[in-house]
Amino acid sequence: MATGKINVSVENIFPLIKKFLYSDHEIFLRELISNATDATLKLKHLSTIGEAKVEYGNPLIEVKIDKEGKKIHIIDQGVGMTEEEVQKYINEIAFSGAEEFLDKYKDSAKDSGIIGHFGLGFYSAFMVASKVEIITKSYKDEPAAHWTCDGSPNFTLKKAKKTTRGTEIILHIADDSTEFLEEGKIGSLLSKYNKFMPIPIKFGTKTETLPKPEGAKEEDPAPTKEVDNIINNPNPAWTKQPTELSDEDYKGFYRELYPMQFEEPLFHIHLNVDYPFNLTGILYFPKLTNDLNTQKDRIQLYQNQVFVTDNVEGIVPEFLTMLRGVIDSPDIPLNVSRSYLQADGAVKKISTYITRKVADKLSSLFKNNREDFEAKWNDIKIVIEYGMLSEDKFFDKADKFALYPTVDGAYYTFEELQEKLKANQTDKDDKLVLLYASNKEEQHSYIEAAKAKGFEVLLLDSPIVSHLMQKLETSKEKISFARVDADHLDNLIKKEDTQISKLSDEEKEALKTDIETAINNKSYTIQLEAMDSSSSPFIITEPEFMRRMKEMQQSGGGGMFGMGNMPEMYNLVVNTNHELVSEILNTKTAKKKERLINQSLDLARLSKGLLKGEELTKFIKRSYEMVK
Ligand code: ADP
Ligand code: MG
Repeated sequence: MATGKINVSVENIFPLIKKFLYSDHEIFLRELISNATDATLKLKHLSTIGEAKVEYGNPLIEVKIDKEGKKIHIIDQGVGMTEEEVQKYINEIAFSGAEEFLDKYKDSAKDSGIIGHFGLGFYSAFMVASKVEIITKSYKDEPAAHWTCDGSPNFTLKKAKKTTRGTEIILHIADDSTEFLEEGKIGSLLSKYNKFMPIPIKFGTKTETLPKPEGAKEEDPAPTKEVDNIINNPNPAWTKQPTELSDEDYKGFYRELYPMQFEEPLFHIHLNVDYPFNLTGILYFPKLTNDLNTQKDRIQLYQNQVFVTDNVEGIVPEFLTMLRGVIDSPDIPLNVSRSYLQADGAVKKISTYITRKVADKLSSLFKNNREDFEAKWNDIKIVIEYGMLSEDKFFDKADKFALYPTVDGAYYTFEELQEKLKANQTDKDDKLVLLYASNKEEQHSYIEAAKAKGFEVLLLDSPIVSHLMQKLETSKEKISFARVDADHLDNLIKKEDTQISKLSDEEKEALKTDIETAINNKSYTIQLEAMDSSSSPFIITEPEFMRRMKEMQQSGGGGMFGMGNMPEMYNLVVNTNHELVSEILNTKTAKKKERLINQSLDLARLSKGLLKGEELTKFIKRSYEMVK
């Protein structure tokens, strides 16, 4: 038996470990299972190359809770350690690594995110244990060793009786950590961190029903058997080749990742690179709603099948954080702070690669099955539009497959739209005017009016689409978007058959004055226009520019221009060819004239959805008076 002092120059390392790692102290289990996995994989390798003359078999890692004894056991059948190796790996190396770390990061020690993953590995056991034992037997023909340490820098190391190969770690759980003696707690940690680790992990047993023996009676109970409860899938889909996997396999893996998710994913992207960095993974496009925030942070990041985090900020471009799935890379420097991560060259390359893969996949879906792509458009558009706004490289690719649906359910690419509309939807400056609605119900009368004139109306209803329109207007030549209820169509679009006004210039002058006096509201600019006599007499439009500014303000562009609330500003377009308008002009009594004007204005406001509250109540009351 040997006793000695652990080789450490920072005298009291354990309180430090406890303190720094405290916020993340559950990772002890992940670290110890990682070590057990490494030990098993090392043995596998050594036996493959013939250096270890042992039967590799079907090793597993067992996690056992001894609630009464207040202990957790982690047992593996890996390479094990000789006494000499325990001295070297446990007593020296880890400490020198820790010392170096503490020295290097003493200024930023508060940022516990840095430390949690910093290869303190084995020593993280002391975050939850007051005493740790290692009982280990090497695959080499040497006696087993038994190391014990009570959390002070003193350890004991002696020979042990263990005859089977591998390592057993015994944690004597500290009084402040007894939650880890709960089966439910350990079970949830295992499923969070170890669900896809490469060596089977046993946690307890479960009862399995066997098939009934031949000739068994109907009422005989089926026989059962106690079997190992293996909590992980050692061969998750992302570690396989795409050629080995069917569509069903991909869907199955999605359910494995998100057991509470009942919707199926729309499609998947299998990632697989080995140069200039290593990365594998599968990303899924889920069905998205317009609420962007609730759906983020579902991508899980792994390092060699060990779960690390589901916060992929900085590794995956922002617009792709709405996707789901798994990324596994040994090359992402996971041990460092996020700000460092964002500046890291390798991480930037990964981000670029993922963006490209997603664009290529979308492009091939579009080319190979356009019908299906159109059917999915509504569920994926938000990611694509977001990507087009935030990543120029993505914009260039997506511009060829991004779709612009019409209110009647046809889908066009931008190029197709230009081709289709150039004949009759250009204004006097030859600029293409893309009319769109953002809500089919609310803008119904405007949509109908535009369609009656033979115009195509798009349905662009995602929350960020006004930003995208802005971008398209600046990056494409000679196009502009206008909502159907924006400044009136006749202003924007040149028409061969311009209507001639029935009113003389003096009459128009008088009409304008009458209306201005009657409504007495500075928010409305009166515009007289000669339109078809079947068009509405009064139509309210809102300048496209004003409305878009308001929208962008609401969707976050906020204080950007240092604006307060945008003022209300509307156009009141008066159709001088409408009968009612002539009637207004020819009405002799001022009172009646005023009433006609205000009732018409209210009808126009009603149609635009502007009439609300008390005004609406009064309007309805007044209308009843009129019809009775
Ligand atoms: P790291 O895993 O980063 O090397 P650790 O502190 O987790 O650091 O472990 C230190 C070393 O102890 C390992 O590199 C390994 O050599 C040895 N070790 C730890 N656990 C085991 C185990 N279960 N079986 C064999 N060797 C182990
Ligand atoms: Mg380790």
